[in-house]
Amino acid sequence: MEKTTATRNLNSLITKVEAARLKISEYHIVKIIGISKYSTAEDIKTLYEVGQRAFGENKVQDLKDKMQTLDEFPIEWHFVGTLQKNKINNLIDLNPTLVHSLDSLDLAIELNKKLEAKNKKMSCLLQINSAFEDTKSGVDPKEAVDIYKKIINLCPNIILKGVMSIGANVEDEDIIKKSFQLTKKIYEELVPLGARYCSMGMSNDFELAIACGSNLIRVGSTLFKNL
Ligand SMILES: *Cc1c(COP(=O)(O)O)cnc(C)c1O
Repeated sequence: MEKTTATRNLNSLITKVEAARLKISEYHIVKIIGISKYSTAEDIKTLYEVGQRAFGENKVQDLKDKMQTLDEFPIEWHFVGTLQKNKINNLIDLNPTLVHSLDSLDLAIELNKKLEAKNKKMSCLLQINSAFEDTKSGVDPKEAVDIYKKIINLCPNIILKGVMSIGANVEDEDIIKKSFQLTKKIYEELVPLGARYCSMGMSNDFELAIACGSNLIRVGSTLFKNL
């Protein structure tokens, strides 16, 4: 990707995010994570050079490879993909800033056990399946608050920082909106328990997600597209 393209993509994204967040409040800050899963380390470097600092991957091995290649840059790395139990130790060793995709109590207990053994802690978001789609990971919205509390009580090495959700995969904006509103409602219930991030919104729906209260968006294709 050319630097001029990276600048154009990032500027255009920031302009849209600014407009969307200011509709809520000038104090509503939205953090942008560049999801680089379909992109090369070279493209990440180009976006870094024009100002983007936080990136996310959805496979542990890809995260490892890109972190190593870009070792010299102070990039903030996020993990957003389904975490297989046999990859937990590898992910812990990478020490990501935030894992968005803690998607069951079972996984939390397993992750906590391995964190304990390594004497490490990890910041995570509880993923909620607010679109009620079988193809999506995440806990049932009805159980989310209860599971969040259980993780706080049972998993001292996991630092829960909020929730993540992927918008409904449909054309109908009302349905996508409902899934975001449901996630936001659960997030609000969890704020007294320390929740700070409501991670929702991707390339196709981040403006709607921000309107529904998202403060962390995960944008891939729009940011990395070649014009
Ligand atoms: C790929 C991915 C994104 C980014 O998707 P785009 O539509 O390319 O912006 C966001 N979140 C998760 C969990 C992803 O896997």
